[in-house]
Amino acid sequence: MTCRLLAIGECMVELSPRGEDNCAIGFAGDTLNTAWYARQVSSPETLSVAYFSAVGDDELSRRMADFMRAQKIEPALKVIPGATVGLYMIFLANGERSFQYWRSQSAARRLAEDLKELPGLGQGDFAYFSGITLAILPPEGRQVLLDCLKAAAERGVRVVFDPNLRRRLWDSAEDMCAATMAGASVSEIVLPSFEDEAEWFSDADKQATAERYLQAGSRLAVVKDGPGSVLVKAVDSAAFEVAPEPVSNIVDTTAAGDSFNGGFLASLAEGGSLADAVRLGCRLAGQVVTQRGALVEVSAADLNRGA
Ligand code: ADP
Repeated sequence: MTCRLLAIGECMVELSPRGEDNCAIGFAGDTLNTAWYARQVSSPETLSVAYFSAVGDDELSRRMADFMRAQKIEPALKVIPGATVGLYMIFLANGERSFQYWRSQSAARRLAEDLKELPGLGQGDFAYFSGITLAILPPEGRQVLLDCLKAAAERGVRVVFDPNLRRRLWDSAEDMCAATMAGASVSEIVLPSFEDEAEWFSDADKQATAERYLQAGSRLAVVKDGPGSVLVKAVDSAAFEVAPEPVSNIVDTTAAGDSFNGGFLASLAEGGSLADAVRLGCRLAGQVVTQRGALVEVSAADLNRGA
C-alpha cells in the first residue's frame, strides 16, 4: 500500500554563484528539502511525496512545478494569478556563504487563503510543516492552516512539525514562541533542534525540550543536537538516545535538520521502527553536511550500512 507524505511550506528559487559573473538556478526551502530527501531514500511504490504551497502563473512558478515533477515530487500547488515565487541568492566571499532573500511578497504567503482541507490525505498519511511555514503566513492564514492540520489529525493523518526557529522571520520572539507551541499542539510528532530550542525557550537539556512539546499535546518528540545524540521521547514509553556517527569532513551544515527529517519520515512511512527512522535520519544528515548546498547527492550504499 502506498503512503503519502505531503510537505507544506515555501519553496524558493535559489541562485548560487558559478564563477565570477554567473549563477545557477535551483529550487530549495526547508520543507521542500525534507520532501526531496524523503524522495531520495524511499520507493515511489511505497511512498508518494507531494508538496503543497502557492505559486504564481509566471515562468518561474511553472519551472518550479516542473522541477518538482522531474524530482518525482507531486506539485500540489495553488496558482495565484499575477503572483510570483520567492527567491534567494547565495554570495560567496572568502569561502563563506551569505544569503539575501526576496520573499516578502511571495505567493507562498497566501497558501492558506480559502484553504478548506489539505489535499489528498487519508488515514496513516503524513502531513509535514515547519516553523518557517507558520512564519511566512499572516496570523489568519496561520490559524486556517493549524485548523486544517488539526482536522486532518482527527481523520487519522500523522501531523509532523519541525519548529525550525528563525527569529528574523517573526515580529517578536514572543510571537515566534507562541506560534511554535500552537504548531506543536496540533502535531503528533515534533522534530526540534536542541541548540535553537535552548536559545529561545531556555530549555536546560534535551529532556526539557521533549517534555515541553509532549505537554503541548504531541505524542512523540525527536530532539536533534548537531553531532550530539538524538533524544527520542514518546508519551507512553521511556526515552532513548541514538548517537550519530562522527563526521570528520564537515563542509556545510545547510539542510542537516531538513535531511534528517526526510530520512526519518521516509523510514517511518515505509514501516520502519522509531530507532531505524532516527538512524536513517542521522546517516542521511551525516552525508549532507559533507557537501555544499541544500540538495546534495546521497550515496545509497552508505545509507544502507548497518541498516
Ligand atoms: P539543524 O540543521 O536543524 O540545526 P542539527 O544541527 O540539530 O539540525 O542536526 C541535524 C542532524 O544532522 C543531527 O541529528 C545529525 O544527525 C546531523 N549532524 C549535524 N551536524 C553534525 C555533525 N557535526 N556531525 C555529525 N552529524 C551531524
